Amino acid sequence: MTRRSEGPASRAAFRRAQRVLVGGVDSPVRSFRAVGGHPVFFARGRGAYLRDVDGRRYIDLVSSWGATVLGHAPPAVVRAVRTAAAGGLSFGAPSPREHELAERIVRAVPTVERVRFVTSGTEAVMSAVRVARGFTRRAKIVKFAGGYHGHSDGLLARAGSGLATAAIADSDGVPPSVVQDTLVLPYNDLLALERVFERYGEEIAAVVVEPVAANMNLVRPEDGFLPGIARLCRRAGALLIADEVITGFRLRRGAIHTEYGARADLVTFGKIIGGGLPVGAYGGRAEVMDRVAPLGPVYQAGTLAGNPVVMAAGAATLDALTPALYRTLERTSAQIAQAWTEAAREAGVEGFALPRVGSLLGVFFGPAAPRDYREALAVDRAAYARFFHTMLSNGVYLPPSPLEATFVSSAIGPTEVGRLARAAPPAFRTARGSR
Ligand SMILES: *Cc1c(COP(=O)(O)O)cnc(C)c1O
Repeated sequence: MTRRSEGPASRAAFRRAQRVLVGGVDSPVRSFRAVGGHPVFFARGRGAYLRDVDGRRYIDLVSSWGATVLGHAPPAVVRAVRTAAAGGLSFGAPSPREHELAERIVRAVPTVERVRFVTSGTEAVMSAVRVARGFTRRAKIVKFAGGYHGHSDGLLARAGSGLATAAIADSDGVPPSVVQDTLVLPYNDLLALERVFERYGEEIAAVVVEPVAANMNLVRPEDGFLPGIARLCRRAGALLIADEVITGFRLRRGAIHTEYGARADLVTFGKIIGGGLPVGAYGGRAEVMDRVAPLGPVYQAGTLAGNPVVMAAGAATLDALTPALYRTLERTSAQIAQAWTEAAREAGVEGFALPRVGSLLGVFFGPAAPRDYREALAVDRAAYARFFHTMLSNGVYLPPSPLEATFVSSAIGPTEVGRLARAAPPAFRTARGSR
């Protein structure tokens, strides 16, 4: 698709950016390579809307990949950021804002007693894996195909040939030796995990899982999957790492793995807990977390970790996440999902599913809601690209990739739901194409 849905100012910005930034972007998915065309460059965001450099307005359904759950520039968060910034941008020393945000997390997540802040989700998961290895004195980690846990070397791995064999690096620059202790299994496949534990049980330090997988479109955990992982981990003396960088504080106040009947030993956060500023955090029970320096022998540090401005943005965001707000998010998301499902059917789109967990939506041009990465890859990419570009032309900014989830923010109200419902039918007709 090379439809020109971007304006002249975005085109000019992209040309200029490409001269000095790799591919013109700072994170590959933003480049629009997965949907074709040129990326839109944004000038500002307010509430449910983004405005691009050409002055065009879009309802934002990316929400900074989930971080801006309250919409753009929510006044209470901006106020908190201004106040904090005026008091100093970074101390490189403790400030009360760190334990104030940590207290909010500990209160909301029963499996977390101690927290350590870092500056990205990548760092959070990388560090949690290190803690698990330090605590268990074991090397192997298990992850699930299609789960994204940031870009640390050991987690940039895909499945090797046989089930229980070592993984293959999923990026150039990652030596085989770095992923030789990573095992990659299909999501929702408890039997495969059981077999891996039979074979490697004594060597497995941790299983890391997205409790709701939101980096391969949207894949729900099947009944018993998460409690099953927890049980196998417990039996083998391995730790369960719930990667809640997306799901934490999005689906409810706190983590979601406990709602599915699993107790994690370590939990990672990011995105929402920074309210749109760069953040990550990992936490768990004291016995495990107290292995981290300065109390224990597992080293991990950060110059800008616990940054006062970020902590203030996070605390103000969490304070806005009331039960009423989650009810609104649920209602709005359900209305969007219903409107789009009906529009797809009326447009005669063959093979469309819209899995949803709270404010996480999976716009999936495929035969049925995917259960694992293999099924997620069966998406009709061209159909998604057509849908994406028609929506973009009609003022809706969707994830520029068929493998990403769609994120609803609480700034989306009845007016926007109406606009989203009206924008869908022509987009589904284009997506269907001519038969
Ligand atoms: C986004 C994400 C990460 C990585 O976070 P960054 O802040 O982008 O480094 C890790 N895990 C999950 C589940 C994520 O969605």
